[in-house]
Amino acid sequence: MSIWFTEKHTPHSGITMEVREGLYHHQSPYQTIDVLDTHEFGRVLLLDGLVMLTERDEFVYHEMLAHVPLISHPDPGRVLVIGGGDGGTVREVLKHSGVERITLVEIDEMVVRAALEYFPEISSGLKDPRVDIIYGDGVDFVRSVSGGRYDAVLVDSTDPVGPAEALFSEEFFTGCHRSLSKGGVFASQTESPFYHSAFMAQVFTRLDKVFPQARFYFAPVTTYPSGNWSFILGRKEPDVKPRLNRAGDLDTRYYNDQIHVSSFALPRFLAEMLRER
Ligand code: SAM
Repeated sequence: MSIWFTEKHTPHSGITMEVREGLYHHQSPYQTIDVLDTHEFGRVLLLDGLVMLTERDEFVYHEMLAHVPLISHPDPGRVLVIGGGDGGTVREVLKHSGVERITLVEIDEMVVRAALEYFPEISSGLKDPRVDIIYGDGVDFVRSVSGGRYDAVLVDSTDPVGPAEALFSEEFFTGCHRSLSKGGVFASQTESPFYHSAFMAQVFTRLDKVFPQARFYFAPVTTYPSGNWSFILGRKEPDVKPRLNRAGDLDTRYYNDQIHVSSFALPRFLAEMLRER
């Protein structure tokens, strides 16, 4: 008998994958955490039944969330990661030799524990001496941070519901802007252009009020809704050129200097949506 896991992306569509074995199931105070071993995508992390990452395609998402903003900064030294308890984004940030400290603020310690246990290659960076893990709400943390503390803030959160909803608010973006040093950069995942364009327009309107420059960029994440994923980059100093010559130094499988530039190409339907907002 074969077992299949299905995540519905809309009431009438989704993704389905054949499961070899369920490896872990836990109800934390925040969410249900599952780890599946699947034929097609390797191990898969689910939170509340939604795909957070798969071994097969996680590198695309984590490379794009980390390297586009960090290459856009002249010399990032202190990085704040909100969410990201699986460690994938931290693993990528550590590839930037100039980064001295990474603060990870993850609300659910059980996610970190599951990642360390079942995704050692993805969570390996969480044990790096440059990494400090704080278990708490990223919204509260940013409220408490002194001004100019970080050179980059990367938000690797779940979908904008429950505890993650406030991570897409104007108040949170304002707090992130304040926590950033001169030349600071902000990046967040911003859902699927095909299913969530209205939400993206709201996020753009809020971030555009706070940062002198806000721009979407995109990458294919096979196992996320629609397979096309968006991110947003906010910059305190838009005139500073990205260090694209350094992109080639990074040990990556998806990101490079050409991807960096092309990922900002805005499809016409989104450009029109942003004009009309
Ligand atoms: N790549 C995934 C995506 O795009 O949906 C996100 C993966 S990562 C596991 C998401 C993490 O955000 C979860 O571990 C969740 O616990 C954390 N999270 C959600 N809301 C949070 C908040 N307000 N503060 C800190 N962490 C939060």
